[in-house]
Amino acid sequence: MIISTGTASGKSLAYLTPAVASCLDGGTILYLTPTKALAADQLRGLRELRITQLRAACFDGDTPFEERTWVRQHANYVLTNPDMLHRSVLPRHAQWSSFFRRLRMVVVDECHGYRGVFGSHVAQILRRLRRVCARYGSQPVFLLASATASEPGAFAMRLTGLEMAEVTSDGSPKGATTIALWEPPLTELRGERGAPVRRTATAEAADLLTDLVLANVRTLAFVRSRRGAETVALTARAKLADVAFSLAGTPGPLPVDGSSGTASSPAAGTPGPLSPFSGQAIPSSPTDHGTSLPSPTQDDAPPASPDGHTPMASLDHGTSSPPPTQDAHPAFADPSTTPPSPGQGAPPASPHHGTTPPRSSHGITPPGSEQGTTPPGSEQGALSWGGSVSDPADWAALPDRIAAYRAGYLAEDRRLLEKALRSGSIMGLATTNALELGVDVSGLDAVLIAGWPGTRASLWQQAGRAGRDGQEALAVLIARDDPLDTYLVHHPQALFGQPVEAIVLDPDNPYVLGPHLCAAAAEIPLTDADLPVFGPTTVNALDDLVTQGLLRKRPAGWFWTRRERATDLADIRGGGGAPIQVVESATGRLLGSVDEPSAHTTVHTGAVYLHQGETYLVELLDLEAGVALVGGAEPDYTTFARDVTEISVLASLRSHDLGPGSLHFGEVEVTRQVVSYLRRRLQSGEMLGDEPLDLPPRTLRTRAVWWTLPASEVATLAEEGFDLGGAAHAAEHAAIGLLPLFATCDRWDIGGVSTELHADTGLLTVFVYDGHEGGAGFAERGYARATDWLTATREAIASCECERGCPSCIQSPKCGNGNEPLDKRGAIHLLDTLLRSTPTAS
Ligand SMILES: [Zn+2]
Ligand SMILES: [Zn+2]
Repeated sequence: MIISTGTASGKSLAYLTPAVASCLDGGTILYLTPTKALAADQLRGLRELRITQLRAACFDGDTPFEERTWVRQHANYVLTNPDMLHRSVLPRHAQWSSFFRRLRMVVVDECHGYRGVFGSHVAQILRRLRRVCARYGSQPVFLLASATASEPGAFAMRLTGLEMAEVTSDGSPKGATTIALWEPPLTELRGERGAPVRRTATAEAADLLTDLVLANVRTLAFVRSRRGAETVALTARAKLADVAFSLAGTPGPLPVDGSSGTASSPAAGTPGPLSPFSGQAIPSSPTDHGTSLPSPTQDDAPPASPDGHTPMASLDHGTSSPPPTQDAHPAFADPSTTPPSPGQGAPPASPHHGTTPPRSSHGITPPGSEQGTTPPGSEQGALSWGGSVSDPADWAALPDRIAAYRAGYLAEDRRLLEKALRSGSIMGLATTNALELGVDVSGLDAVLIAGWPGTRASLWQQAGRAGRDGQEALAVLIARDDPLDTYLVHHPQALFGQPVEAIVLDPDNPYVLGPHLCAAAAEIPLTDADLPVFGPTTVNALDDLVTQGLLRKRPAGWFWTRRERATDLADIRGGGGAPIQVVESATGRLLGSVDEPSAHTTVHTGAVYLHQGETYLVELLDLEAGVALVGGAEPDYTTFARDVTEISVLASLRSHDLGPGSLHFGEVEVTRQVVSYLRRRLQSGEMLGDEPLDLPPRTLRTRAVWWTLPASEVATLAEEGFDLGGAAHAAEHAAIGLLPLFATCDRWDIGGVSTELHADTGLLTVFVYDGHEGGAGFAERGYARATDWLTATREAIASCECERGCPSCIQSPKCGNGNEPLDKRGAIHLLDTLLRSTPTAS
């Protein structure tokens, strides 16, 4: 069964009740979640139930070896993740025999995360799990919990291979939410080819956060990266400091609702205008915050104060010592991987104890938080909460009411944050979507979403954070400077009254299936009886594996007879191929791995690499050694790899007419070479330059959707004066930008090629392909929804107010041709031609 309902609708209770009952009845439960953090949270919840017969334990990479035996032998509620199941539990199933024998239920939580290639791997791991269970005579019920999704039953069936019932009705109380779609204005800045640059979503988010906090509206801002979230928090704090500053010379109450105590008048004898903020910590270096805050050239730069000081100048933290009452919480100071540079203030905070706990802005200490005092000179978290200055200058604590949050905090820190939010000592919080995991922030009035979160499902999930006890709430989607965001803020009908996305995965991808068949054979030799478990393409895949010498066929079935571990063949978080290890150069710590094709675009030398919201700079990509060396860094720019691509058609699998042209879906071979990377300023979006790269071309066999237009139509358009190459190129860029609306993918998961005359088709052709070996289902989805997809693409281009193309419509940050040639009006006409009298989509 799959339960697919909104945030805070009680899904956990729905699976916990039968799961715990099964444990009490002598059964065992396997609980799967995509992240360790969520498992740890669940474990805490289970322990709080205080049921002695319930022996719950996490089994993940952090579980000490001496505890693992206990878990295998005694735990009856095991919390783990697909990676651990794949690498450890299934290959050693014999050690788990008593657990598997009694297994009653498999809970697959947050299963909407299992999409694309990763989802396809998880689907095969679950099939291996079912086979192992059958070996021990158990037939567990699979209970899946998902965010709202379209056709959850069909998705669940693809994920588990089992018939699934779906529960989608949500009876939890909800107040009305006002949704605002917010498009930042074009600025005076000029980008590539003189295109106008739109103000960034983070800059707008900081403004809105400031205004909402001033109006006493409890607000959460979702920002893509931790660095971005911190920038939003810092900018908003600077703006609040500015407000407080201007009020310093204006005796009288603040112009805010006084309900939470901020409106008290500044007392006589207030400190000098700058000193109240001097204790406010900024975690970045002085050079850093000059750039992370809006530059003065920007249209919204905070107004200079009467004496010419800008608030950020007044925020310089390195030079002043914090007042002894400062109560920054070390957990929210940046436990940064880079030690502070000399002269930049203070040593890193000591862990956890020895600092004053958070305190509300009116000096009330939350219960249960009496621990020590701040040692003078300890690092002050900008991300701390609570007023550092209580009376006589409450207003000075205003900036402290905004904090930033990211993943990786300990449970106790998260509980403190929840408390601060509930008490109102924190009014504004900027976060990455890490907050989806493990913090209860019920009690918010507003949510700001900086940039399209990727799916309608995520949008509603994030918007669903606002609204307490059925009260009204506000959610604002702030558009980023790209075609999809632009389209959405101009076309609310694409968001409202639309079903949320289907979750796309393709378990039959041969690059996924093959390695799991090897792993399955290593676990228990495969027999004919197993074939239906792994899907219709299994027989062919097995033949291939035998030919490659990976499996041996014997009368009794297929055997793994090699010495190495079969599970090493499958890189479940990557896309096939030997993965590149991402290693922190200073410590040798392995941060993760990136599959080889993606490595060229995500961890090339000079790339800004995001890992769990943290920012790193790639010092060196060594393809031969399979290593990317990175260092923790806070650059004030983002990078975009640019590639040039050639494509050849191997087979058209499906096709139909599309207007005067035709549409195809099939197999292609793509040769892609990353040639340079673009640097763009984080806060303003300004282009900083294009740096060349020397990387080898890479060949990829994958699937693509493509459309062609006959020569007669092309000739007509050419006579009207359009640049056909530029028109096709522009249509391709925008189509790549819009496909994520129809296939649950990221714009980086797909690529495209366009040409006025393609060698294989002999026609004007635009291709959009899956960027993963073997395909991931995205292009197939584009084929199925082509009319809607191309109509939206046309609309996105037409609704952008720029004249000749910009990043919000037809320019692409990853274009290897430097966004040349592009013809905006030509693209609209080209798409109009294609969509003319389109037959009903098949
Ligand atoms: Zn534009
Ligand atoms: Zn291009």
